Amino acid sequence: MSEREGAVEVACPSCHRLETWVVGGAPEICTEGGLRRPEIHPQRAAFEQIARSLRGEHIRVVGACAACGQPLLAPRGAPIPGVPWQISLPGGDTLAIGADGGLIGPGGSMTLGEAEALIHRAYPTGLSWERLRGWRPHVALFQGAVLTLMLGPLLAFLFGVSVLSIFFRALAGQLFGGP
Ligand SMILES: [Zn+2]
Repeated sequence: MSEREGAVEVACPSCHRLETWVVGGAPEICTEGGLRRPEIHPQRAAFEQIARSLRGEHIRVVGACAACGQPLLAPRGAPIPGVPWQISLPGGDTLAIGADGGLIGPGGSMTLGEAEALIHRAYPTGLSWERLRGWRPHVALFQGAVLTLMLGPLLAFLFGVSVLSIFFRALAGQLFGGP
């Protein structure tokens, strides 16, 4: 929360990074952010933020978040120009969003409704992209192997304890009169 004249708060709603921008000065990082990742596909998540501004919400995309790559948003009235953005589509196509809000899809100029339908088809929700990205077969295999190896010493220990207990029981039986 800066009190400086002309300072504008710029935020990444995705990872909660917060910066203060001053005209002609370097951005001041108020909150690092970067830990939170979108639960939907990052390309769709970025488009959702851009679509908010295109629908007339009081925000403007002014850059890419240094921590997570999602759009950085400033209030629409702030003295910071909007920036163009490019959404990658499966198959190598792109949806370009101009700084003026113009939408250019693979087949040319599009309306916001058409662009939304395109993005929703390309990146449907309901899949946990976060989990898919985090699932690494070789890591699962390694963890399984380590757990299996750790069972070895445990079994050896249990075997030793049972052998000793049989031995001492037999010894006690000999010393203090057997059955
Ligand atoms: Zn971010």
